[in-house]
Amino acid sequence: MNPLDWTIAEALDALAARRISAVELTEAHLSAISALNPRLNAFITETPELARAQAQEADAARAAGAAPKLSGIPLAIKDLFCTEGVRTTAGSKILDPFIPPYDSTVTAQLKAAGAITLGKANLDEFAMGSSNITSAYGQVENPWQRADGKPLAPGGSSGGSAAAVAARIAMGATGTDTGGSIRQPAAFTGIAGIKPTYGRCSRFGIVAFASSLDQAGPMARSTEDCAILLDAMSGFDPRDSTSAERAVPDFRAACARGVKGLRIGIPAEYRVDGMDPTIEKLWQAGIEWLQSAGATIVDISLPHTKFGLPVYYIVAPAEASSNLARYDGVRFGARVDGEDLIDLYERTRAAGFGAEVKRRIMIGTYVLSAGYYDAYYLRAQKIRALILHDFHTAFAQTTGVDAILTPTAPSAAFALGEKMDDPVTMYLNDVFTVPASLAGVPAMSIPAGLDQNGLPLGLQVIGRHFDEETVFAVAGALEAAAGFSALPALRGSALR
Ligand code: GLN
Repeated sequence: MNPLDWTIAEALDALAARRISAVELTEAHLSAISALNPRLNAFITETPELARAQAQEADAARAAGAAPKLSGIPLAIKDLFCTEGVRTTAGSKILDPFIPPYDSTVTAQLKAAGAITLGKANLDEFAMGSSNITSAYGQVENPWQRADGKPLAPGGSSGGSAAAVAARIAMGATGTDTGGSIRQPAAFTGIAGIKPTYGRCSRFGIVAFASSLDQAGPMARSTEDCAILLDAMSGFDPRDSTSAERAVPDFRAACARGVKGLRIGIPAEYRVDGMDPTIEKLWQAGIEWLQSAGATIVDISLPHTKFGLPVYYIVAPAEASSNLARYDGVRFGARVDGEDLIDLYERTRAAGFGAEVKRRIMIGTYVLSAGYYDAYYLRAQKIRALILHDFHTAFAQTTGVDAILTPTAPSAAFALGEKMDDPVTMYLNDVFTVPASLAGVPAMSIPAGLDQNGLPLGLQVIGRHFDEETVFAVAGALEAAAGFSALPALRGSALR
């Protein structure tokens, strides 16, 4: 097997058995990046020198018998994570140039675990989007192709991370998920990705979009690989006031636990009008897979689901408008000089932000303004509490379910250019992912099948707060039953 097709678990075994060195594994990825990235545009910044130095260190550590857990595993880092000494863009022109003097907690932990940094992955500007087209560094192409040959969107906002992992030019990646940005691109590219419980991974050093929703998480080609990465990314961090003081359980062991005796909820409200019949069928298949693996299926109701999108598109822009106030041309990043200070702010922000970011800042400022705060923001916060309450009721310890199964997205990957002129159509992509974000519960997407065009589709597993273990157990069972083995057309392992 080509090492580029290995899972992280397989690569760790091969490294431990000295069947490959970290340098060899890294070089294989670097040459695949050189060959494919000009087309995919999955990386904004490549860091081959850093990767080579880290790989040498990893081999030295292994030779000394001191290889940490992820020693020698080449990863892509979403360009929303600050990385010491490496340009960080957040997909925006307004930060250029910004070379952080420090690492985010998540990237520092990954480095300490011995992971190799291949580069910074492309994303929607400030993670605002579902197709990666709002990036100031150009769109990303999905490595999957459909018969008409039109280039497809990889989903977003973690589209570069997803494309890199699917195309086998990285073994895994970090993503962030505010309303679906790990799960939807994972579904669009046929890989796995988990948004852990809010508070599980530190937000310190991650460029903020909507602070009450933003969560980091792993994207990889198997459930177990996501568990391995999440283990290294998680943990309490005193530098993030919303970081949870919780022990990190053995996520990897949970993947093989099975679902015998678990109660799995199927929420009626996720059967939306106009859903692709193939997705409906896949959802039914997922239900049957879990049933045959020993789970009990329970019909449940999450009655406030329909308010998820409107609430999200009030709360997220509101927080974004406040978070993005810091890009004023004075403290860091780009500056366009003006006649006075206000003029400097205005010119800098007009030139530095793209259209989607400006739209969100305007919406956010509007819903927070004195005259409209009660009507929009306050109301949205109240409904958010009801959405959370729906999940609490569904997951009630004695009578409730242990996990919930839904589709990840209402469609497969669409062509670049399709659906993209209308922001509202684009926002509808997030219909199945935003409720879990608003409630802060963990949710994972697993590749489960193909649509009529041969494009991957994902199923979503949602769990209780801080019960990623059950999410991994259910995802592991789905993965085993689905046996998803289709490969994207564009991939490093297919290069000559
Ligand atoms: N697509 C959603 C949005 O545009 C979610 C983005 C995200 O999770 N970062 O806001």
